Amino acid sequence: MEKLNSKRALPSMRQAQSSESKKAGAKRANPGRKRIPYTKEEIHEIFRRFSLQRPEPKSELDYTNAFTMLVAVVLSAQATDAGVNKATKALFARADTPAKMAALGEAEISRYIRTIGLWRAKAKNVAALSEALVRDFGGEVPDDREALMTLPGVGRKTANVVLNNVFDEPTLAVDTHIFRLGNRLLLAPGKTPEEVEAGFLRIIPPEYLRHAHHWLILHGRYVCKARRPECERCIIADLCKAPVKTCDVPTPIVPIEEEAVAVATPR
Ligand code: SF4
Repeated sequence: MEKLNSKRALPSMRQAQSSESKKAGAKRANPGRKRIPYTKEEIHEIFRRFSLQRPEPKSELDYTNAFTMLVAVVLSAQATDAGVNKATKALFARADTPAKMAALGEAEISRYIRTIGLWRAKAKNVAALSEALVRDFGGEVPDDREALMTLPGVGRKTANVVLNNVFDEPTLAVDTHIFRLGNRLLLAPGKTPEEVEAGFLRIIPPEYLRHAHHWLILHGRYVCKARRPECERCIIADLCKAPVKTCDVPTPIVPIEEEAVAVATPR
């Protein structure tokens, strides 16, 4: 290995080190932040149009309280919301609180949810999370992500859905549609759901954060579809900077009032 002991080499080394550390410092100042090709005004306009199109988006899952919402979301992984609703109708009639569900037990819960994919694991999780809620949280669903994520079967996405739907928290549960849109539109590019979530949370104007994830999911499901985006039906076609875009003319905004969204179903 070459010896680095020449006195004349030191100043240039220091310069190089200093410029490297400046670059590193600049990177540290914005960890993980990626440049996106939109102005603040364009982003605001995108979400303003979404808000005009869907003023009050709602969850498609049936629930009556925070606990039944939590259970419904846990059951909805790898399942359709319609299928979950069918199963939970009878289940929630018997047990709509953590105490009642814990008393029902895993075997009895299984009987109600056998039509849902992964029912064995889900029955186990629902029984265990109900017991944990009774034991550790006084029978209440906590309104805190960290606490929710300590419950069996509850990951970040489930916690975000519950926080958003039940506690009106401005969270963003990244599903397949939101993940695709963040990357395709270059609004919040990222390799993981967490990166896309962080990217969107950074740019979405606060006044639109409450419903943003519903709007993005619906836009992804019905217009900016996975296989072929229907740009000619898109209300943000003039603003969108997706390389795959096929049309520059936005379609007029027609408010859609009565539309539920399956926020929790990864499709
Ligand atoms: S213009 Fe096309 S690619 Fe862009 S958001 Fe609309 S549907 Fe998606």
